Amino acid sequence: MTTPRGSARFGVEEHGKRAARSTDVYLPAEGKEEAVVCTGCKATFWGKRWFNEGDEGAKFPAGHLPHKGVCPACQRMKDNNPAGVVTLSGDYLLKHEEVILNAVKNVEAKARAKNPLARIMEIGQEANVLTIRTTDEKLAEKLGKEIYKSHSGKLGLQWSQDEGFVRVNWTR
Ligand SMILES: [Zn+2]
Repeated sequence: MTTPRGSARFGVEEHGKRAARSTDVYLPAEGKEEAVVCTGCKATFWGKRWFNEGDEGAKFPAGHLPHKGVCPACQRMKDNNPAGVVTLSGDYLLKHEEVILNAVKNVEAKARAKNPLARIMEIGQEANVLTIRTTDEKLAEKLGKEIYKSHSGKLGLQWSQDEGFVRVNWTR
């Protein structure tokens, strides 16, 4: 099969900028000193950040009974409102789909170990295009950059500053 895509230009195109300060509406108000355990994923909130279940820092000090709540990642999943959308396409992708999907899962696992709010909501496939929706914009950016680093191709990143949202397109 011959297609003009074989001669596609390689490179990275970036539009917009990641917001210096997160304006994520899903993050709890600063300065709240409360303990929360997520009813969805069991992540815990304490000392201004979220921890995975079982993390060292996830232990609540004695006397603090955690509230039941929903973490921002589970809330985004409920609302079906991703912070990042990554689309992967091209003939090369079709031939290397398994390897690339494995890389996607590895990147997610590493990111999630550090930040329980960084996860993939879903991976969809439609007409030879893979779409990965994430709960975290940095995870979406990382996915695009890792694939680009290992497989070259063409990467485009488009940040929407107001909403803390990034659209990532990779093709090869
Ligand atoms: Zn959760």
